[in-house]
Amino acid sequence: MSDTRRTKVLIIGSGPAGYTAGVYASRAMLEPILVQGIEPGGQLTTTTDVENWPGDTEVQGPDLMVRMEAHAHAMGTEIIGDYITSLDLETRPYKAHGDSGTIYEADAIILATGARAKWLGLPSEEKFKGFGVSACATCDGFFYRGQEIVVVGGGNTAVEEALFLTNFASKVTLVHRRDELRAEKILQDRLFKNPKIEMLWDHGLEEVTGTESPLGVEGVRVKNVKTGEIREIPAKGVFIAIGHAPANELVKDKLETHMGGYVVTKPDSTETSIPGVFAAGDLTDHKYRQAVTSAGMGCMAALEAERWLSEQDIVEGKDETEPLGYGAPVDSAAE
Ligand SMILES: Cc1cc2nc3c(=O)[nH]c(=O)nc-3n(C[C@H](O)[C@H](O)[C@H](O)COP(=O)(O)OP(=O)(O)OC[C@H]3O[C@@H](n4cnc5c(N)ncnc54)[C@H](O)[C@@H]3O)c2cc1C
Repeated sequence: MSDTRRTKVLIIGSGPAGYTAGVYASRAMLEPILVQGIEPGGQLTTTTDVENWPGDTEVQGPDLMVRMEAHAHAMGTEIIGDYITSLDLETRPYKAHGDSGTIYEADAIILATGARAKWLGLPSEEKFKGFGVSACATCDGFFYRGQEIVVVGGGNTAVEEALFLTNFASKVTLVHRRDELRAEKILQDRLFKNPKIEMLWDHGLEEVTGTESPLGVEGVRVKNVKTGEIREIPAKGVFIAIGHAPANELVKDKLETHMGGYVVTKPDSTETSIPGVFAAGDLTDHKYRQAVTSAGMGCMAALEAERWLSEQDIVEGKDETEPLGYGAPVDSAAE
């Protein structure tokens, strides 16, 4: 028998965007419910060192996400281990169907289902993920200062990542299966002019090689797709740059998407094309894809949901002049 839960704000996703939305929505007294999905904590739980989260010189990704969950919970977010299988956004209250059988009825919804880097699916790639294999140059490039790096791919992502990585690496080898790049011409020009980048055409990645203890990458084995010849390239870092896919399964037929499926939001806002439905984090962001930008969008989504609910008279007894998200207004006379 299905159980029904009613909430003013339903947050779908437990990455930085979802948990930050939980903190802000709780502090706006909206008593949000947050559904975690099959990856509680989101993408950062799949990495090790994070060195660009403000306030932490270095933090382990999974530890950071445990702290974010505890923070959202402490502020009053009800956190539920469930997975949303479908959404009904035609009539209000909106309905989200949980895999558990629970139906979540919500006046407003914050979508924070994130994105996934595309991987090649090699066992050695999986083995060294977070230990030399990465899909995010902005996140991990800094760890390879003065080292040799291999980037795999041939589109804009690969070329942008290769160019960015020359800021740190002594040499970047871009491995591509074809004999021409799909990336924009202007990016290709920059790539070919960069003395630190070497192109390896017509090669596919066969295996990432490295040490067991400590676990770490030492190089890659690549195969010439025309001749079958195998070659080894030394490298301390391997970046798989074959693109990202936003986790848009719930809304791809319901909301406008662009740039390969990212949900479109209004300029400077997390509002989507459906009133009361907000989208935050990597689900909407084809450009930055960072924890801190996702958290920022989670904050925006909660504040915008609160304002929208106030306009619908769903938040009762709310003082419109009260600043959102910052607690009680400061009494300047008391300072
Ligand atoms: C290996 C790796 C290393 C990284 N390192 C860094 C770094 O050092 N610094 C940095 O700033 N960024 C880093 N990033 C990027 C960062 O992790 C993302 O930008 C950030 O996690 C995006 O946050 P998000 O909240 O939008 O979504 P995500 O973190 O992607 O979380 C999405 C959430 O949605 C949930 N979900 C999905 N579908 C459903 C559903 N149907 N029902 C319920 N829940 C659902 C998932 O379970 C998950 O909890 C890294 C990413 C990777 C992959």
